[in-house]
Amino acid sequence: MKYKKISKYVRSGPPATVKFDMEKPPVKQTWLIKLFLAILAYAGKLLYRGKLKKVRMEGVKPPYVLFCNHSSPLDYFIMVAATAFQGGVYAAAPNVFLFIESIVRRFGCMPTRKFTTDISLIRSTKRIVEQGNMMCIFVEARHSLCGKTEVIPDSVGQMAKRWGVPIVTLKMCGHHIANPFWNVSSHRFSVPVEATMTQIFTPEELKTATVDEINDKLRAHLDHDDFRWQSENRKKLKYKKRAEGLHKVLYQCPNCGKEHQMDSKGAKVFCNSCGKSWTLNYYGELEADSGETEFKFPTDWYVWEREQVKKEIESGSYYFESDVIVDDLPNHEGFVRIGKGKLIHDMNGFNLQGVRDYDGEPFEMVIPAAGQYACHVEFNHKYGGYRDCVSLNTLEDTWFIYPESESFSGTKMSLAVEEIFKKLDAEKKEKIAARRKSLN
Ligand SMILES: [Zn+2]
Repeated sequence: MKYKKISKYVRSGPPATVKFDMEKPPVKQTWLIKLFLAILAYAGKLLYRGKLKKVRMEGVKPPYVLFCNHSSPLDYFIMVAATAFQGGVYAAAPNVFLFIESIVRRFGCMPTRKFTTDISLIRSTKRIVEQGNMMCIFVEARHSLCGKTEVIPDSVGQMAKRWGVPIVTLKMCGHHIANPFWNVSSHRFSVPVEATMTQIFTPEELKTATVDEINDKLRAHLDHDDFRWQSENRKKLKYKKRAEGLHKVLYQCPNCGKEHQMDSKGAKVFCNSCGKSWTLNYYGELEADSGETEFKFPTDWYVWEREQVKKEIESGSYYFESDVIVDDLPNHEGFVRIGKGKLIHDMNGFNLQGVRDYDGEPFEMVIPAAGQYACHVEFNHKYGGYRDCVSLNTLEDTWFIYPESESFSGTKMSLAVEEIFKKLDAEKKEKIAARRKSLN
């Protein structure tokens, strides 16, 4: 059946009945594929003058689980270069499979839906390591918005303990400076990148480590701030448009407090409401063009924004509502326009209600806040007409939701999801502790 094309990547018409097969076993890479990936990865590493340091890696070979930080598409190249010829399975979001699913599967990628309670990844990882393979997981489950490591959930430690194979981390530095998430079309080759690959637990050490110890060590080894790293290591970035797009992350002005008035051009970010501007210097440091420099690094600014969102959540004033357009990504053939609707995000979580373009029937997606510790957002999403969006998942669907309101900020929504979850989680733990105390 021929469907009407809304854009090159989105069609109208009935919903797709064939969906990504999340249970399909991963494909073992052939030698030819390993060679091809290694050539591609080394070319990327060479282009960005990448350096790799290995710590406690003597004798470590598959099976093991590799946890990486994720701040740029460049990560894939450096990760594959670090594990070249070993083969492996890489957990990847459904959009990675778009149009080229069979090729991407042959590369060793396995689809997984972000921030769901999907246990298929846990099951698959166990099977993969039992078969003697390396399993690679970008443990933040999304790109870092600002070059700072994002949330790593407690469940990772529990899983790692069960697998019983070496746990390795790959911390990549400089990738957010070389190819930032808020401007992925820009490549800055002038900053050499570096990575450290560390075996943080041998199988024997895992046996005696507690889940909290595993999580603490994992977080410590992946903890990173790319702007601070750039400044401390004096990595000079002379690229003239180095701040273009940064306002997507720095959405709130620290001078006048207004939101959604920030913009950027060249090496500057500025507020259209009060007129204050800042220059991002060669070393990733911010300098106010007049008056006080509130934050030395964009990452400090980002942390301050988190605090502002947290205050709204604690006072109960956080609320977002907007008309939205919703596209579904059911399989590798492309996006399907579901229709228009209304998205509400508040202390209860996400509530999306809409009407299908295809047949006028209602659709909805309701995700309780307590069930989602983070969310995935996109800036200038190529497949959605270069608009910002939030991507929400159920176990069966991946929707890309484009708010029409000018007060939408993917960064703010992402921070709000995390802070609401933290608050609810802390309350839940307090209740459990109180109940235990009353029983004793
Ligand atoms: Zn301002």
